[in-house]
Amino acid sequence: MEGRILVKDRYFVPYIPYERLEKAIDAVAERINHDFKHFNGTPIILCVLNGSILFTGELMKRLTFPCEFSSIRLSSYEGTLSTGVTRKVLGLTSSIKGRTVIVVEDIVDTGKTITDLHALLLDAGAADVKICTMLLKPDVYKKDLKLDYVAMEIENRFIVGFGLDYDQLGRNYKDIYILDNSVEKTAMKHFLIFGPPGAGKGTQAAKIIDRFGLRHVSTGDLLRREIAAGTPLGLQAKTLIDKGELVPDSVVEGMIASELDNNPDAKGFIFDGFPRTTAQAEHLDAMLSARGEKINAVISLMIPDETVFERIRHRAEIENRVDDTKPEIIRNRIDTYHAKTEPVIAFYKGKGVYREIDGLGTIDEVFGKVSALLDEYLPA
Ligand code: 5GP
Ligand code: MG
Repeated sequence: MEGRILVKDRYFVPYIPYERLEKAIDAVAERINHDFKHFNGTPIILCVLNGSILFTGELMKRLTFPCEFSSIRLSSYEGTLSTGVTRKVLGLTSSIKGRTVIVVEDIVDTGKTITDLHALLLDAGAADVKICTMLLKPDVYKKDLKLDYVAMEIENRFIVGFGLDYDQLGRNYKDIYILDNSVEKTAMKHFLIFGPPGAGKGTQAAKIIDRFGLRHVSTGDLLRREIAAGTPLGLQAKTLIDKGELVPDSVVEGMIASELDNNPDAKGFIFDGFPRTTAQAEHLDAMLSARGEKINAVISLMIPDETVFERIRHRAEIENRVDDTKPEIIRNRIDTYHAKTEPVIAFYKGKGVYREIDGLGTIDEVFGKVSALLDEYLPA
């Protein structure tokens, strides 16, 4: 196994040698063989592309019962439909109607992909769906769906190799490597704080600034400041807002660029409320990349939709905003949130910087977890 490797622009260090993976795959294959030895029928082994290509190959050559092979590719997040299914199937290579399907995944993180896929397959008429994943991050997996076969559990860190990619690279390594957060080439470190309405983003951002000395960038605040100062950008924004139009991405991006330029001595920035779309995320990436910088981590405060619902309703009652107490309106806000942010989450997941934190608990409990995460990047 090689020592430290550079994949695109980030360093990774050895984590799971191939020999250990092989043993874990032996064990999981044995369990599947045992369960399917007397199975009446021919299950379909369904490889979820692209990540599980190597794992599926290794697994299949160990299976000793009659089975067929199929593959599927899912689109990236496309917004939430009423069913809660967020991904589109791009290619299912054979019919699964009435069949028993053994889904083979590379890694289960939050479980969103696998629960979506499970629902999709049952929808498509599968008689039974079993799940086999090479890796599981038990600290983040919060879904009720039972994972039938898990070859190995790992900590909540970003890995590459053995089919898993960082920005489409690194799949070809035979061993698994883990992102080395301690080696950073850039001076400024930027972070994003993410979460549904009511997750406590503002509260946590304030505590982060206090403790870690990052600059808080809220696009709403920036806009109000530019307008108040009567800068050319502010005037442009004001004209649009007065006409009831949305401020275009280019204006918001311009404000962020000048904020970066005007604070060369900052340790880094914490972005709040931006980017909201993948287009904005791509622009931000390009803008930072031109400066030799990047988003180091996306801190995602997760709370269940039901909690979001209660918090919005509670807030509306306190502030006497009748509209926001209507269930349909609140549901709609939550759906819009998911539809808009999930593609952004997928974007950052692909870059290996998405870090989810359980947002339930007291402010200090949540901040404890946020701080532990930031300590990895900004050691005292
Ligand atoms: P989930 O939907 O369970 O949150 O995420 C599952 C998908 O995210 C995986 O199929 C994989 O594409 C990606 N993913 C999650 N964690 C990692 C990781 O540590 N490394 C890589 N390369 N991809 C990951
Ligand atoms: Mg995958």
